[in-house]
Amino acid sequence: MVTTKKMILSQQTLGLDFVRKVEALADTSVRSCFQCGKCSAGCPMASFMEHPPNRVIRLLQLGQWQTLLADRSIWYCASCETCSTRCPNKVHIASIMDALRKLAWDADGPSKETFVQIADKLFLQNIRTYGRQYEMRLAALFNIKSGQFLKDLMLGPKLLAKGKLKLLHKKNKNLPEIEKIFKRIEAMRKNKEAL
Ligand code: SF4
Ligand code: SF4
Repeated sequence: MVTTKKMILSQQTLGLDFVRKVEALADTSVRSCFQCGKCSAGCPMASFMEHPPNRVIRLLQLGQWQTLLADRSIWYCASCETCSTRCPNKVHIASIMDALRKLAWDADGPSKETFVQIADKLFLQNIRTYGRQYEMRLAALFNIKSGQFLKDLMLGPKLLAKGKLKLLHKKNKNLPEIEKIFKRIEAMRKNKEAL
């Protein structure tokens, strides 16, 4: 009985630590939500999510963050910010979704939607290396990393023929400026994590 009580208490502590981390990253309050549901009512992606925005917040409040990190709901969020705009308590849910994606990412892919993480990483790698999107490289590396070697293979020649894909890409001349943006974001993240 005592052991069970201790386990519940330590889970609650861990849950609170996690909520604090999310609040620091998202710069908003998870604990202010009173479950009115206005966020989910306006969310264009709610019908695809196992846990719509208000439930995401409730699970956080209940310390069930592992459920969220392993769930695909956070990856369906389109960052449209409708939820944040509608919230009467100024809970910035879009930023919370961002923070959860980051934490799921740092936890090295416990999410069901690991393909989203692969695509995300490759997308950003391309921007950082070329200063623009390089679709051919993105598609080829995505197929290799996701183990779907033949995915959409027949589309490649058609898109090349129509000029929608290019074999080679020049780097964007503003690449040094883009690198500065990445560095600035990394510094901001480090500062938030240190809080
Ligand atoms: S930001 Fe995400 S969670 Fe919020 S309304 Fe848009 S899709 Fe839904
Ligand atoms: S709109 Fe705000 S207060 Fe209402 S459920 Fe969503 S997060 Fe909570």
